[in-house]
Amino acid sequence: MLSVEQARQQLIESVAVVCEAESIALSNALGRVSASDVVSSIFVPPTDNSAMDGFAVKASDVKDAPLTISQRIPAGSQPQALQAGTAARIFTGGILPEGADAVVIQENCDYSAQSDMVKINSVVRAGENIRPKGQDISQGSVVVEKNKRLNAIDLGLIASVGNAIVSVRRTLKAAIFSTGDELVEPGEVLMDGQIYNSNRTSLVALCQQLGYQVIDCGIIDDTFEATKTALQQAADRADIVISSGGVSVGEEDHVKPAVQEIGSLDLWKVQMKPGKPVAYGKIGDVPFLGLPGNPVSSYIVFVLLAVPLLARLQGEQYKAPTSYRVLSGFDKPKVSRQEYIRVRIANNDDGVTVARRFNNQSSGVMMSLTWADGLVRQRVDEQIVAGETIDYLPIKQGLL
Ligand code: AMP
Ligand code: MG
Repeated sequence: MLSVEQARQQLIESVAVVCEAESIALSNALGRVSASDVVSSIFVPPTDNSAMDGFAVKASDVKDAPLTISQRIPAGSQPQALQAGTAARIFTGGILPEGADAVVIQENCDYSAQSDMVKINSVVRAGENIRPKGQDISQGSVVVEKNKRLNAIDLGLIASVGNAIVSVRRTLKAAIFSTGDELVEPGEVLMDGQIYNSNRTSLVALCQQLGYQVIDCGIIDDTFEATKTALQQAADRADIVISSGGVSVGEEDHVKPAVQEIGSLDLWKVQMKPGKPVAYGKIGDVPFLGLPGNPVSSYIVFVLLAVPLLARLQGEQYKAPTSYRVLSGFDKPKVSRQEYIRVRIANNDDGVTVARRFNNQSSGVMMSLTWADGLVRQRVDEQIVAGETIDYLPIKQGLL
């Protein structure tokens, strides 16, 4: 049996980045993955400038006597060198004139529009209220690393160094299937023995939320030929094929033999609960991942195993979910498979965070996932005791 961490490692090592780089406009780059380091060709800010509205001076020139205001430096203008023994009126972002080494904030000065003199009422130290050249970004430094999904802050940084074009990877295409004769789509009438297909909707949404392009293949018709054709067509168009359902051992199901005939398939026993065996294989060069049918298992296997695999194919840095230590609000005996327990956290009277678990941890109970705000990871042979610490993994915006 593979541990979750071993399974993840094997998945990542079995594939390479498949998405080539392309250059796009910065304005279209939100949510795309950087294909190379973004290196700044300039200093930000490009010159020493004023952090405040006030007067630029040479600190050692400031005595009791008022100083003549020798020039005015709004942001965006080009100053002249500061005449010795004078002050320059300066505004936030204004370039510090040569010869000045401090800016006195206007609140510490007496001046008026009628006069060209300013009286400085504070002790002035060299360097004060100055934003030095390059204090944010040095020329030649990396502002955004490669393999990063670009967010609003990253885009702002790229803009701040003047780049209008950014090199990103083309968006990964994921084909999603559901299997199961009992499934019907929402909006249709439910007959005896049928259930609505929820995995299709949630898996498509998870992929979209992660920024991938989805090829939604719906429910595969339950014949060997149809399954084979659908899988081959999906593999021809997509970078990865993901299915749900029909991977429990011994089940009558066409996905496994179909993948085996047109490619290769392994059934992995991963030491995790929920999460039955996970099917993993390749159709040509295209990886195939078969998730369990139970919606909770399908979700948990997706977030723990599909997410790193998708990231690898896309060329995106994968960060395993961060766990936090919190107090357990329940007892639970040791287990032989790593378990993911749906919990909700709250502070107790002492302000300490405690995890309570949903009363029904069956993998068929999807309501447990929406109730939960995270999962407790119970490791093999770990006994959970109320009041002792456990590993808590928050679910953020539907993902770990
Ligand atoms: P399976 O993995 O195919 O044996 O399915 C396990 C359980 O999950 C069964 O009760 C299925 O009815 C249910 N199931 C399978 N696929 C889906 C789906 N797409 N949406 C909701 N439930 C499903
Ligand atoms: Mg099934």
